[in-house]
Amino acid sequence: MKIGAPKETYTGENRVAMTPDSAQQIQKLGHDCLIETGAGLNAGFTDDAYKEAGVEVVKTAAALWKAADVVVKVRQPDASESKRLREGQTLISFFNPAANEKAMADAAKKGANVIAMEMVPRISRAQKMDALSSMANIAGYRAVIEAGNNFGRFFTGQVTAAGKVPPAKVLVIGAGVAGLAAIGTATSLGAITYAFDVRPEVSEQIESMGAEFVFLDFEDTQDSSASGGYAAPSSPEFREKQLEKFREMAPEIDIVICTALIPNREAPELWTEDMVKAMKPGSVIVDLAAEKGGNCKLTVMDEKIVTDNDVTIIGYTDFPSRMAAQASTLYGNNIRHMLTDLTPEKDGQIVHNMEDDVIRGATVTYDKEVTYPPPPPKVS
Ligand code: NAD
Repeated sequence: MKIGAPKETYTGENRVAMTPDSAQQIQKLGHDCLIETGAGLNAGFTDDAYKEAGVEVVKTAAALWKAADVVVKVRQPDASESKRLREGQTLISFFNPAANEKAMADAAKKGANVIAMEMVPRISRAQKMDALSSMANIAGYRAVIEAGNNFGRFFTGQVTAAGKVPPAKVLVIGAGVAGLAAIGTATSLGAITYAFDVRPEVSEQIESMGAEFVFLDFEDTQDSSASGGYAAPSSPEFREKQLEKFREMAPEIDIVICTALIPNREAPELWTEDMVKAMKPGSVIVDLAAEKGGNCKLTVMDEKIVTDNDVTIIGYTDFPSRMAAQASTLYGNNIRHMLTDLTPEKDGQIVHNMEDDVIRGATVTYDKEVTYPPPPPKVS
């Protein structure tokens, strides 16, 4: 089969779904690889590098979509791309199925099979295809780097001939994949790092990474766990305790990294306007929840603002694209592992096995039907 990656059309998207390395692995499955000219340039992969890896470089998006049996992409297809999908073609991409009903119905009607990368079940066997985690890891890392870039001081404390420098104090709110990556980055830069999550089971992970878990004085647990390791909304009493604690911490904290999310809901508002006002001038907030409304009241999505009291609030939503080489490498590997599952005999033939938990879970259209939402996976 021909596996093709077009150039991403979304403005500012620098990632690409196939790298020269991932293409070589895909060819070992018996497939041929195609790339649209220039598709990898913003991630540092030239057409020549693809050619050396045995990839055919095609001149236009139209030619690529026409030739490819399987199209691999990063962003959900735009209207012009959706039009190009055809019967029997497979698309593997982020697709945002929950908010993309029309495109999903159109793809099904045409008979195109769509595998949505955000739908890969979070079971052990599927970790190597878990693009949400690989992108969240990058976002968490980059959030701290971005904070450092906007913070006028060191992270680590120093005693120098020119004076003593206190360490920065970082608070990470939410310790899922992105939060844990942020904690690892902040502690490795030498900051004193605190972290909070409503799921008490993450306290060990937080502490093993050198950060201090923020406990609340709330009965004997801070449990808002729902199934599958995700959070559920907190009770009003719990939330009040949480805000009280943050209010107490705000004047001391230099950097806040917000990552708290609850599936299928707006992000909980956890860093209020009065907390921003209480922070020292020069402090920085990076809000990774910006796309879902933000954990910080004042966050503006995709913008950096500076408040009257000189607190910088960053609401960018494109952190993985800002590290396009790394993000494309990891995402390309996630896609290549998905193709490995889809090519069981390594003979260049795609077998779209709807009995396979991972393939079934991620497939949102198949055989002219919308197959979203999937049933829960049978294994963990
Ligand atoms: P997420 O992006 O949905 O949420 C980020 C974090 O915010 C979560 O840890 C959540 O508990 C926390 N949160 C929600 N409300 C909060 C509040 N009011 N205050 C503070 N924190 C709050 O999470 P994620 O990164 O997608 O990870 C979710 C879970 O999935 C984790 O348990 C993770 O270990 C698990 N996971 C499993 C696999 C796998 O098994 N393959 C892969 C990735 C993640």
